[in-house]
Amino acid sequence: MSAESSTAPLQTAHPISFLVIGGGIAGLACALALRRVGHHVLVLERQDRDSVHGESGIRLPPNLTKILFHWGLKDALKQKALVSHTILFTQYESGDYLGSQVWSQDVLKETRGVFMVLTHAELYDILYDAATRAGAQIRYNSEVVEIDASEREVTLASGDKVSGDVLVGADGEFGPSRAAVIGQQVRGAPTGLAITVVSGKHLPPNLSQLRDDNGVFVAFGDGRAIVAFPVHDQEDFAFQFYGPDDSGEGRFGDEPSVPLVEIASKVDSRLEPIVRHARQATRITVRAHSDLEDWVEDDGRMVLIGEAAHPFPPGTIQATAMAVEDGAVLAKLFSHLSEERQIESFLYAFQELRQSRTRSVRASEFGNAFFMAMPACDASRQRDEGMRMLGEKGLNVLEGGDGETSGAWNEVRTIFGYDCEDEADDWWVQWGLLRERALQGRQAGDEGNGDASAAPQFDFSAFTVEVSETATDTTSENGHEW
Ligand SMILES: Cc1cc2nc3c(=O)[nH]c(=O)nc-3n(C[C@H](O)[C@H](O)[C@H](O)COP(=O)(O)OP(=O)(O)OC[C@H]3O[C@@H](n4cnc5c(N)ncnc54)[C@H](O)[C@@H]3O)c2cc1C
Repeated sequence: MSAESSTAPLQTAHPISFLVIGGGIAGLACALALRRVGHHVLVLERQDRDSVHGESGIRLPPNLTKILFHWGLKDALKQKALVSHTILFTQYESGDYLGSQVWSQDVLKETRGVFMVLTHAELYDILYDAATRAGAQIRYNSEVVEIDASEREVTLASGDKVSGDVLVGADGEFGPSRAAVIGQQVRGAPTGLAITVVSGKHLPPNLSQLRDDNGVFVAFGDGRAIVAFPVHDQEDFAFQFYGPDDSGEGRFGDEPSVPLVEIASKVDSRLEPIVRHARQATRITVRAHSDLEDWVEDDGRMVLIGEAAHPFPPGTIQATAMAVEDGAVLAKLFSHLSEERQIESFLYAFQELRQSRTRSVRASEFGNAFFMAMPACDASRQRDEGMRMLGEKGLNVLEGGDGETSGAWNEVRTIFGYDCEDEADDWWVQWGLLRERALQGRQAGDEGNGDASAAPQFDFSAFTVEVSETATDTTSENGHEW
C-alpha cells in the first residue's frame, strides 16, 4: 500500500468552499490539507507558476517532514530532497573548524521526522502536484486587488469577483490580506541585516565532507554568516550569505540584485570559487515584525496564515515549516466541521493554537540569525570558543558538554518534537467536542421543556476517546529506513 493511500484522514460532514489568496507554500499546503479532509478549495495566485518558484534552498526540519510524510509525500520527497545528518560549524573569515552537530537516531525518533534539504521550487512542485491531484483548483495570474471579508468576496485585477465561504489570506507580508484583517497595512522594520541567496555548482575542497552526509555548513563571522547545503542530488549548493543590508528593500522573488563579488567580502578565500561560479544572488532584507493580535477578521470568515500572519526572518529553518503547520492545523480543525455555525469558533481555535506556537518559534529563529551574524565582540568570541571546546572533545556542539543539556538544545528538541496535527486533535477533544456536547444538551433541553434557561445536562459516558490518526500514521512512518 502506498503511503498516500495509508493515510486517509477524517472527512468533514459539512464541506464548504475556501478561497485561498496567495499560491505560495502556505497557500498550496493549506489547499492540499483542506482537500484531504473534503473541503472545496480555490487558490488565487498573482504571478504565473514559474515566477512563484525560487531556486535557492530550503531546510525541512523534523516537525515539517513528519507532516509531509503523513500527507503521503514521502516518496515524492525522497526523489527530490536529500536527508541531512549533520551541521558543520566554522569560522567565516579564517575557515577554522569549530565543531559539529550530528542528528542522532534518538533525537530523530523522539521528533518523529528527519532533516531534509531541497530547493523552494522542488518543494513547491511537490505541493502543487499533490494539491491539484487532490482536487484543489489553482488559478495563476489572478491578482487579488480588493477584499470584502464581510461579503466573503474578492475582486481580481481583471475585474472578476470570486467568493467563498471562508477567505484564507496566504499572500505573505506584502499582500492585501493583512490590511483586510487588521484594518491597516503593517510592515516589518529593516534590521540592517540581509541574506543573499546564491545557487552555485562549485564546492570548495575544504567542504567536500558535506557531500558525505548532505551536511549543512554554517560559518560565523564578524557581522556576517553563511549557511550552505547541497541540493539537486548534490549537483548544486544553496548558499545563504548573512551580511549588512544597505537597501532595506529586498524580498524573495526579486531579480538577482547583488554584484557577486560584494557578498563574499572578507570571506575565507577558499570560499571565493562559490561566488565566481554562482548563478544568482538575490538580497532579502531581514525585517523585525510586531505580533499581530488578530488573525481572524471581525466577521469571523477570514483568517491569515503563513507569512501573512507571522512573517519570519528569511531563510530560517522554521519559516516554511510554520507555513505548512498552519495549513495542517486549519484542516485538522475543519475536518470536524458539521455545521456552518462552527466556522467562526474553528477559526479562533486556529488563531489560539498557532499564535503561541509561531511567536515562540519566531523569537527563537530571530535570535539564531543574529547569533550567527553577531559583530565581533566578547560574546561572539565566547560563542566560538565554547563550540571549539566541545568540538575538540568530539561532542555535539548544540547539546552542551559533559552530560549537561543546554537551554538552546531543549528549545530545539521542543520545536522539532512538536506535532501540530496532534495539538489540533487535542483541541478538538478537550474543547471542541465539549462545546458541541454542551450545545446539543442545551438544544435537547430547549426542545424537551421549552425552558431556554435550563442547564445543559452532560452525559460524560457519551465521550468517546478518539484515536488520533496522526499518532497512528506517524508510528508506521517511523519504522522507515532512509
Ligand atoms: C518566489 C519565492 C521564492 C522563495 N524562495 C525561498 C527559498 O529559497 N528559501 C526560503 O527559505 N524561503 C523562500 N521563500 C520564502 C518562503 O516561501 C516562505 O518563507 C514560507 O514558506 C511561507 O510562505 P508563504 O506562502 O506564507 O508566503 P510567500 O512565500 O510570500 O507567498 C505568498 C504568495 O502570495 C502571492 N500574492 C501576493 N499578493 C497577492 C495578491 N494580491 N493576489 C494573489 N496572490 C498574491 C505571492 O505572489 C506569493 O506567491 C520564497 C518565497 C517566494 C515568494
